[in-house]
Amino acid sequence: MGLVKVATVWLGGCSGCHMSFLDMDEFLIELAGLIELVYSPIADIKEYPHGVDVALVEGAVANTENLHVIRTVRERTRTVISFGDCAVTGNVTAMRNPLGSPLEVLEPAYIELADVNRRIPDDRAIVPELLERVLPVHAVIPVEYYLPGCPPPAPRIRAALEKLLGLKKEEVEGQRFG
Ligand code: SF4
Repeated sequence: MGLVKVATVWLGGCSGCHMSFLDMDEFLIELAGLIELVYSPIADIKEYPHGVDVALVEGAVANTENLHVIRTVRERTRTVISFGDCAVTGNVTAMRNPLGSPLEVLEPAYIELADVNRRIPDDRAIVPELLERVLPVHAVIPVEYYLPGCPPPAPRIRAALEKLLGLKKEEVEGQRFG
C-alpha cells in the first residue's frame, strides 16, 4: 500500500488550527509512517501537487489568492476537510463582513490611523486583493468533511485522521473512498 498523500492548507486564518495539528505530539510520529505530507505551510513546498488524497484546509476565503488556492486544492484533491471554525463558518476572518466593503477596514488601518505612508497597498504581485466578503470554504468549493473548533482540539484532529486513514485502507482493498 502506498502512503496516503496529505496536504494542509493555510488560507485566511491565524495558523492556530495548524498549531493544534502539531499538538498531536507523538501521534505525528505514527502518522509520519502512514502519510506523505505533500504540501503544507510547515513544509517548504511551493506548488500544490496533483493527486492529493486528503487536504485539511484552515481559514476562510478572504482574498483573490485564497480563491485561486482553494480552487486548485479542489481540482487536485480527493477529500477536502474544512478545518476549524474560520474554514467552516468564516468565524474571526469574517468579522469584517458586517462593516461592508473592504475599504471600510482598509481606510482606517492604512490611512486614518497611519502616521506615515498613508496609502492602501495595491501592488497585486505582493498584496492580493480582498474579496468583497469573506467566505467559508464550502461557499466556494464542495467539501467532504467539516472539522469545527477554534481551533479543533488535537484529539479531535487525531480521531478524524485515524478514521480517514482507516477508510483509505478499505479503498486500497477495493472499496471506493470519497
Ligand atoms: Fe485561528 Fe480559530 Fe480561525 Fe483556527 S478557527 S484559524 S484557531 S481563529
